[in-house]
This record gives sequence, C-alpha cells and structure tokens, in this order.
Amino acid sequence: MVTSANLGFPRIGAHRELKKALESYWKGKTTREELLEVAKEMRLRHWDMQKKAGIDHIPSNDFSLYDQVLDMTATLGCVPDRYNWDGHEIGLDLYFAMARGSQTDGRDVIACEMTKWFDTNYHYIVPEFKSDQEFKLSSNKIFDEYTEAKRAGITTRPVIIGPVTYLSLGKRDDNGDTMELLDKILPVYKKIFQKLSDMNVDWVQLDEPYLTLDLSDTQKKAYTQAYTEIAKIFDGKIMLTTYFEGLRDNMDLALNLPVEGVHLDIRRAAGELDTVLSKIPDDKYLSLGLVDGRYIWKNNLRDSLSMVDMAINKLGHKRVMVSSSSSMLHVPIDLELEKKMDEQIKSWMAFGKQKLREIAILAKGAQDGGEGISDALSESDKIAEERRTSPRIHNGAVKERLSKVTPGMSRRKSGFAQRQKAQEDALGLPAYPTTTIGSFPQTQDIRKTRAAFKKGDIGTEDYERAMKAEIEQVVRYQEEIDMDMLVHGEAERNDMVEYFGEQLDGYIFSKLGWVQSYGSRCVKPPIIYGDVSRPAPMTVTWSKFAQSLTDRPMKGMLTGPITILFWSFKRDDVTLETSCRQIALAIRDEVSDLEASGIQAIQVDEPAIREGLPLRRNDWKAYLDWAVDSFKLATCSVQDETQIHTHMCYSEFNDIIEAIAALDADVISIETSRSQMELLDAFVHYNYPNEIGPGVYDIHSPRIPTKDEMVTLLEKAAKVIDPSLLWVNPDCGLKTRGWDEVKPALENMIAAAKEMRNKSKTRKTG
Ligand code: GLN
Ligand code: ZN
Repeated sequence: MVTSANLGFPRIGAHRELKKALESYWKGKTTREELLEVAKEMRLRHWDMQKKAGIDHIPSNDFSLYDQVLDMTATLGCVPDRYNWDGHEIGLDLYFAMARGSQTDGRDVIACEMTKWFDTNYHYIVPEFKSDQEFKLSSNKIFDEYTEAKRAGITTRPVIIGPVTYLSLGKRDDNGDTMELLDKILPVYKKIFQKLSDMNVDWVQLDEPYLTLDLSDTQKKAYTQAYTEIAKIFDGKIMLTTYFEGLRDNMDLALNLPVEGVHLDIRRAAGELDTVLSKIPDDKYLSLGLVDGRYIWKNNLRDSLSMVDMAINKLGHKRVMVSSSSSMLHVPIDLELEKKMDEQIKSWMAFGKQKLREIAILAKGAQDGGEGISDALSESDKIAEERRTSPRIHNGAVKERLSKVTPGMSRRKSGFAQRQKAQEDALGLPAYPTTTIGSFPQTQDIRKTRAAFKKGDIGTEDYERAMKAEIEQVVRYQEEIDMDMLVHGEAERNDMVEYFGEQLDGYIFSKLGWVQSYGSRCVKPPIIYGDVSRPAPMTVTWSKFAQSLTDRPMKGMLTGPITILFWSFKRDDVTLETSCRQIALAIRDEVSDLEASGIQAIQVDEPAIREGLPLRRNDWKAYLDWAVDSFKLATCSVQDETQIHTHMCYSEFNDIIEAIAALDADVISIETSRSQMELLDAFVHYNYPNEIGPGVYDIHSPRIPTKDEMVTLLEKAAKVIDPSLLWVNPDCGLKTRGWDEVKPALENMIAAAKEMRNKSKTRKTG
C-alpha cells in the first residue's frame, strides 16, 4: 500500500474564523471558552476534511492559536524572565503575552520578536534563550490534540518541531551557539516521546527544515546526537520532514539518522530523487513531497506518478509515501468557494482542499500503476496541455520583447556623479532635503470611498473627485509645512502590490484566498497566472494631477518588480527570473510615462528584495544578479535629470549591501530610527556612494518624535555619511497612522532638517 500523507493544514479557516475568534477574544468581547470552542470546531472540521479526502497520515498539533514555534516554546517551558512565569502549565494569557506583548494591571511587557519563516511570508515568534536556559515540559497540547482527534475517530500523526530546528530558530541573549543547549532540551523531547510511546502513537512527524540549509558543524553533530537519543526512547516510527529546499550536502546526514522515514520536498528538489533512492538505507520509508504546499497550481499527476513509480521500483509499495511538499499553511483552503473567478484559470488551480484530493489520487494511482485513476490522469494531461499553449498565459509580444532586452537597457546614461549634478540643477533642493515615503494616513473616509467605488455604489466621476480632493489636501499640507519633495499620498491604493496587479495583464484575484502572515493577520496575495504586461499607464493621471497643483517636485510612486513578484502567488511554469523581468518591463514603461508627463523624481519601492534571498548561500548571487538587473531594467530608461528613488523597510543590509549599491538608485530611503541608526552601518562600511535617507521617525509606533531626537539621529548619520548625500524622511509610509500623529511628527522632522541646514552653514563659514 502506498500511503498518503499531509504535513500540515491551514488553520485560519476558509472564512478566517480563527482570526475573528482571536480578535474578539483579545478585545474582551468573547470568553476563553468561546475561543477554544471555535478552535476545536476548526480542528475537527479540518481533520474530517482530510479523512474524507482519503489521507492516511493526517497531522495533529499542526493547528495553532498563534504560531507553531510559539507552541513549541510553550511545550518546552522556555519563557523569558520578563513574563514572570510561575512555572505552571502555560495558559492562554501568558501565551498571548509572549506573542503580542501585554499591558495589564500597570505592567507593560513587550512581545517576543517575530521573523520570517524560511523563505515564506509566514512569520514565527523567535524563541529566546539564556546561556543557562532551563527547559521543562509545560504544555500538553501535542497529547491533547492527538487524543481529541482519536475521540473523533481519527488517528493522527502528531507534528513536532525537531530539537535542532527549534534551537536554530531561536536566539541566545549572549549570541552564543544555541546548539550548546541541546543537552538541556533533549530531556524534554525524550519525555514527550516517552509519553507518545505510552499513548501507542504509531507515527510522529518531526519537522527539521534546517536540514535543507547550510549547517554548522555543531548543528550537524546535534542532529546525530539528538536523533540517536530520541530513537532509543520512542516505540513508534518517526518521519523526519525536510522542506523548502533539497538536502544537497546534508543528504547523507539526513538519510542516515536513526529514524524510520525521511520526507523530501520534491517540488524544490526533484533533481535529488535519483540520488536519494540510491542512498536511502534499506529499511527506511521515503515520503515524496509531490503536491506543492506553496503554489496554488494543480499538480501534473502524470509527472508525479512517474516519480512515485521510480521510488516504488526501488523501495517497493510499502515504503513509499505520497505527500504535500510542505505544510499547506502557505496556501488558501478551498478553491470551490471562489464563485466569481474566471472558470478556465480556476480550472488550473488547486487550494488546500483540492490538494488533499491530489495526494489521495496519486497514492491510489501508485498502487495500481495508474489504472484506477485514468480519468484524473487524462484531466490532468488536458490541463497541462492548456497551460502549455493557452494564449491567455503565453503572450507572444511579451516574450519577444523580453528576448530583445539588451544589457544597455539596465544602465543609466551617466554615472552617479554626473546625474547628481544634473538633478541638483533640475530640482534645486536645499541641503538635508525633506520627503516622505509615499503614503499619507488612510482615513476611514478614504477607505469607505474606495470600497463604495469597488462595489459600484459610486461612479468613476465621484470617485475621482474624492481622490483628487484627498490629493489636493495632502499637497497643500506638505507645502504649508515646507516639505521639499512632495508625494501625492497614495489615497487611491488599497495595497502596494494589489493596486498594480489589478492593472497588469497576467494577474487574477481571489475573494477568499487568505494566507496567514502571523497570528491573526492574513494576506490575500494576487495571483500571477501568465505573462505579465501593462495594457495602459497605471499611475500617471494621479501623479500628473498632483504635480499640476504645485511648483515643488512631486515624486512618482511605484512598487518595484521584485516586490510585486514576491508578494504574489507565483507561476510554476516559468522561472521567478522570467516573471520578474516581465514585471520590470511593465514598470519600465510606467517610469518612462511618468517622466514624459513631467515627473522629475520617481520612487520604486523594493521592500521585498531581502525576502527573495534563496535559503542556501550558494544561490544568493544568482538571485541577486537577476533581482538587481530587474530593478535596473525597470528604472534605467530615464534621463540624467530624473531622480530615481527606492525604499526598503526593516532590512538587515550587511550581507546584501553590494547588491543594494548595484541598484544604483539616486536616493535610497531605509528604516533606521528604531535601531538608532545602527542599520546605517552597512552603508558606512561599504562606503555607499549614492544619496541616502536614513529614517528618523519610527512610523510603527504611535509616539511622536521630538525635533531634538531627530536632530540627534541626523547628527549621528552626518558623522558617518557625507552630509551632502543625506535626506530627511520617516522610516516608512504613513498610511497606518492618524493625522493627529503625523502632523506634529512631520513638522518636528522638518524643523530638525532646518536646524541641520543652519548648523552646517555656520560650520562652513566658521
Ligand atoms: N510607498 C509605500 C508607502 O508609503 C511604501 C510602503 C512600504 O515600504 N512597505 O506606503
Ligand atoms: Zn517601508
């Protein structure tokens, strides 16, 4: 029997039920019991869905009220001192305090740090360790959820984050090697496995995605030690799951750990299947991650089946499993709920529920050589053929244009020094010029107007009149406070990627395609299904209107190709590079049109450049090469006088600074205020040559920074960066803040810039 398995199911709910339940509990509108009831109902519903789909190994403990890493932290009793934990079982309040911080009874405790989960857009809560950290079993969630499913008639395969991955995900307060804590953490893992043995659990899924990363020697040693010790305790079988990349140089290590099965992410590492089959020890199960847990396209069943057959030939039916490539946390739940989606494009797609079916079908087909699934196979062939040839996907003009791109198109006409001179003459800005990142407060009014327009409650004329009034107000305000380079405020934009996606060909949108970003927060990424092109200008009318209101320079505002790509669902039939270059050409046209309509400065935001970094260092250069080139392809059509800006948020720049410099933007604005300009270090050490606006105002906090604070930050920056290169701006866009916060903060910011100007004058003459 070929077994079917799933590594994890989305937990937010097809209608974001968990989000609603959580937020209402946090607001105090519902009780703990009500929240737990919703959670339980969802677990049971999702288990049932998997069972009905025909999945043999259904996961439990993949559900989480906030985050699966935080769950493991609670299980291991690894609570930072500031939460004053009493050492008893960790309850909801403490759990949410770690996730979100808490302000109760006059006590103000900050949340644990959050960061990206590998190369996904999911964010996990970072475990915090002391150098003498103690661990102790402090939550029964794993056991309780197993029992809960069992009572409902479903035998599950509990999911646990493995010890080496867990320690690798965390940070030690003294920055020491977290592997030194292995001896402390293993006793708790052993206790867990002892208990699972006592409960007669058959299979456990141990997630060790770190096995797909570059490992240190201590991590490698930790793997051998940890699994040797756990294997001695556990009577059941362990499926060691690796995902998001292939195993590469860790293959021997992974295949030879004392576990019963190994899972390989075929979607990311199809090329490794041969070697894995030749190397896997005789007694091990191999789980093939064939159905994509990250993309939303249907599986090519025939291709998959041929790989399963290869595995069966080598290992026999019993030792082969068919599975999702990773947890399905990263895809929406149910495509059937998309009632209004284009039927043909929809027929090419699969969300979580549909993917479960695919796994079951493949397992069935593997059993009898495909005979029993011949209908599904021919349907899959038909779709593959459609996608290969459909003119809706393949746009000859886009392909032709891309093939004619020359290296010169990604180069500005002159070097920075010459451009800087030309821009100085054209723009006539003072020293320490002031600007903002683009958006102004998105008020209730603005949101309502946009929603009414979308629903058809108001017509185009009324909508445009309302948006123009917003723009005019923002322009007048900036003039009033003496801002040097203005923006139009982005009132017309719902989201910095969706706004462009909606106007580009090759994009489609879902109604309920929500994916968890962190905690109760979800995103609904637009979907790239085909070759991308720009049928008409996207922002020109707005920017032109804004510029017509003022003599000051108005900055055009675009999202860059890398960010548009990484914040969308991607294609699986072309490379990321190809999609990125197609988007770059579309943005290039927009840049040219903005310039032609009299816009002298254009900002192309790329906050996602770091997110796109591949998991393995060896792959970084290739990615950065095409990413940088795409940005340049998008921005380099302009004359020397036209100033190209870019913006990036919360990025660590140290290891990618060369690529950032290679973007060759005339001005870059970055987030630096929180770290007190620490994030500027990379630019200083690298001797970053172009102009730079280190954010002086933390827009993520409701606090209003004083003039003096911002002067201090600017002075700090001016010590290490040539002041003639410095700009003065906030950390990020202002859309999430209210006018009452933004006004005083911006006015203080401009006063700070003026003080810097005066000081530098007295310094020069004196
Ligand atoms: N221009 C965008 C804004 O101001 C940039 C947002 C971002 O960097 N995430 O909102
Ligand atoms: Zn930003």
